[in-house]
Amino acid sequence: MKYAIYGISLIFFSLIILPSIIVFGFNSHKTSSTPASDVKLIDGGKLVKLDNLGNTDLYHTVNVFITNQNKIQKMNLEEYVKGVVAAEMPAEFEIEALKAQVVAARTYVLSKEIALGGKGCDLHPGADVCTDSEHCQAWQSEGELKEKWGKNFDKYYAKISQAVEDTEGLVLVYDDALIVPAYHAISGGKTENSEDVWQSKIPYLRSVVSPGEEAASKYKTTVIVSKEEFINKLKQKEPSLRLDNSNILNQIKDVERTQVGHVKTLKIGNITFNGKDIKEIFNLNSTNFSFEEQGNNIVITVIGYGHGVGMSQYGANAMAKQGKKFDEILKYYYTGIEIVKIEDLLKIQH
Ligand SMILES: [Zn+2]
Repeated sequence: MKYAIYGISLIFFSLIILPSIIVFGFNSHKTSSTPASDVKLIDGGKLVKLDNLGNTDLYHTVNVFITNQNKIQKMNLEEYVKGVVAAEMPAEFEIEALKAQVVAARTYVLSKEIALGGKGCDLHPGADVCTDSEHCQAWQSEGELKEKWGKNFDKYYAKISQAVEDTEGLVLVYDDALIVPAYHAISGGKTENSEDVWQSKIPYLRSVVSPGEEAASKYKTTVIVSKEEFINKLKQKEPSLRLDNSNILNQIKDVERTQVGHVKTLKIGNITFNGKDIKEIFNLNSTNFSFEEQGNNIVITVIGYGHGVGMSQYGANAMAKQGKKFDEILKYYYTGIEIVKIEDLLKIQH
């Protein structure tokens, strides 16, 4: 109940008070007041250039719904980004890879920020973003990081803080809009074109080779299930499935893959499944999988970890090990983008 009241007051704050701050901040030189809806820094993801950037608080603070605490907390943007990078990328990674992750995380949250004209987290009204990695992006508090890192806390926190400070305010832009900075752990050697995974063709989410990922322990993983379990699990999803226990592999047909190798669809017995269904049913790391029969078992071999679109985190780390800087890494994985300071971009005269 306490949360509900808090939530409502934040909605009120977002809808009523913040637009007036924007009007005041950016148009205080005008004598007549401008309707709040006309004053946005981001309109449908597109940056609206303003000649008088007043209230820098707008892009220095962010309302974060902390999922495991069930509450919204107002945070400094750069502090929030530290908690995201600490949660989303191993702190052992190279500093330039961490910096690349910082810029991606900052771009993501700013593109959603309600005060700037973003849509916020649609699961939690009043929040710009939530800490559920399946929905927005992961974030961990200092307390959680102390537990996770133990005696390495000071060293790792300082390293991530450095990555944040060295890239302060930098964001990724394509065609004057903040990009959707999709990222994943391991592509499996080559990233995906966005339309192969999510239907829509996004110009900066193009397939690129991603060398050096093979060293990652989860580059190739296997899941072993008995034939009986294999059939039962598929039947839980599709009760009308007809699949004969003998020679299962011969009953797997029409495997349609992306050019990179992720399974789009496949026919098992009489049912056509999406690759994503199989990934979920057997808890696989990616949809780039293949089957083998070994005695009474089905062995599922999986390449990569995650959806494969945008920046590969292990690929970024491999590039950093080769001496590449964060901007080179970001420009490699996000085709045709620019890296700018949000303040500088917004200050550009009309
Ligand atoms: Zn969310």
